[in-house]
Order: sequence, then structure tokens, then C-alpha cells
Amino acid sequence: MEFELIDQLKSWLKPDARVNLGIGDDCALIPQTDGMESVVTTDLVLDGVHFQTGINPAADIARKALAVNISDIAAMAAVPVAAFISIVFPRSWNRQQAEELLQALADSAREFQIAIAGGDTNTWSGGLAINVTLYGEVPKGKAVRRDGAQVGDVICVTGPLGGSFAEKQFRFTPRVQEALWLRENASLHAMMDLSDGISSDLGHILRASGVAAEIEAERIPITEAARSGKTEKTPLERALSDGEDFELLFTLSPDDVQRLQDIPDSPVTIFPIGRIIPGQGCVLIDAAGKRTECLASGFVHGFDAAGQ
Ligand code: ADP
Ligand code: MG
Repeated sequence: MEFELIDQLKSWLKPDARVNLGIGDDCALIPQTDGMESVVTTDLVLDGVHFQTGINPAADIARKALAVNISDIAAMAAVPVAAFISIVFPRSWNRQQAEELLQALADSAREFQIAIAGGDTNTWSGGLAINVTLYGEVPKGKAVRRDGAQVGDVICVTGPLGGSFAEKQFRFTPRVQEALWLRENASLHAMMDLSDGISSDLGHILRASGVAAEIEAERIPITEAARSGKTEKTPLERALSDGEDFELLFTLSPDDVQRLQDIPDSPVTIFPIGRIIPGQGCVLIDAAGKRTECLASGFVHGFDAAGQ
């Protein structure tokens, strides 16, 4: 069944100039572009953790498996090129279910304008698992890393945060175009995508760069979903810690922020939320000027106590 399945997948994919040799050989061959750096990321999504097969349709699962990787490529301000997709199907699935997922992956690859260049396929007694390895490119030296934040930088995000569990976690658009536009029009010092929430993710930039941050609570853009959903957390807490926003979090000089905001009809809205200061950690300043620590844990990929 496996070979027929892969042939079926191949029939849904068009020949692609970004891949010299794709599905069917021992390895894929991807041409190198002069003056470019390769950018590679990989992410594993699992039934019961990142999606639920009984609840989420195949189209959403497939799209998310690709989109989380594309968001990581965007976070480096790179262009996604070709994906390798390894799938472990539950042994209980039939051919039609497997094909539906493969077709959804082919459709999502088309939506995101990436090639599918290979992968691996197997079955087991557990739930559906999908690993995507995504290859991308960036002009040499132009990738935006986490370790370049500088004291005096403004901290910005590309969109409102929080409440993604309602639906956005499956329907978000990775910020590839935004990242490329920002890279072209400003000197980005540090950048990452928001998968766990600012209160956890910002800590990565701060630790990598050896700096601290001040965030102004009133300037954090909050989604409608985070304002209206019923939870014990306030909308602000949700914006800081819900995660799966997949907006970009980046730092740049105040002059560059001004320059970006002065561009007429700018295709990217940026939301300045705070600044980089010397030291360690992050303080959240509320409307009354009260200061609290803002680095909490986001979603933790944990073990059950029994499994440790
Ligand atoms: P190998 O024995 O070298 O591991 P396989 O029989 O596993 O080769 O795979 C045959 C071809 O099909 C390879 O080119 C591989 O990249 C591709 N392939 C297998 N599974 C997938 C998948 N889930 N998505 C895309 N390509 C796949
Ligand atoms: Mg194989």
C-alpha cells in the first residue's frame, strides 16, 4: 500500500523547478542558488497533542503540519522552498483516510507555494504523527536570528495575540511576506515566531541576546477571541500566554520603527509593545505604572509524572 500511496501523492504534485530530483529516488536534489544560505527546520505534530483526528478535519491537520514549519522559516526572514514529510499512519486507517491526508498535504503545499520533495511513510499501533522538514533559502548573511537584540531597540509584533485555540491555530497564515518586507525595509536585529506566547517566547530572544525588556501592557494588541472567550485568564494574560499566535516578534531601532510607520500604504502593520533594556528578564508595565515580572512559562511540552 505504501508505494501506491506515494505514487498517488506524486500524481498530485506538479514538476517543480525548485527540485532537480524529487520523490522516487534515495535522495532529493535541490539546486543551490548563488549567494544564498540554506535554512532548514523540522517540526513534529502528533494526534492528541497538536490536533485531534476525531475532531479536526484532514485538511486542517495537513495545513497545520506545514504552516508551523513555514512560520519557522518566516521567523528567519527566509523563503520556504521544499518540504520532506514523514508520516506514521495509525494501522487502523484505511487507504481512503491516508489518501485524504496526502491530498490535503499536496493542496496545502500549493497554497503555501512550496514543493514536496520527499519523506517517509510507515504505520504503527499509535496515533497519527506527521513530521515535516522544511528547506528554505535566504541571501547569505540576511537571516534574522534570535541573538541580535540591542539595548534601545523597540520590540514589535505583527498582529493581535491570544485566543488562538478558538480556531486560528489551524487557520493562521505564516508571516512569510511580512518577514520579507520587514527585512527589505528595515534592519531587523532579532526575530522569532510566536508559538508559545510572548511571556515564554520573548525570553528566548532576551537570553540569546543577553538583554532585558520592558513591555507596556496597554500597547499589546489583543484578538477579539481573547477578549470574548470564557476562561479564568484576563484578555491580557491570554495575549501573553495562550500561544499558537504565529505572529512575528522582532526588535529594531526606534529610527527604523519610525521609518516603517512612515511608509504610505504599508502592507505590514507593526505593533510596538516595548523596548530592550540592559539586564536580565522582562517587566510588564500596566497603565498605572505598576511593574510586574512578565516571563512566565507558556505551553510546556511535558511528561506525565508516571512516565518520568
Ligand atoms: P527509502 O527506502 O529510500 O526510505 P521509501 O520507499 O521510504 O524510500 O520512499 C520512496 C520515495 O518516496 C522517496 O523518494 C521518499 O522521499 C518518498 N516518500 C515516502 N514517503 C513520503 C511522504 N510521506 N511524502 C513525500 N514523499 C514520500
Ligand atoms: Mg523510507
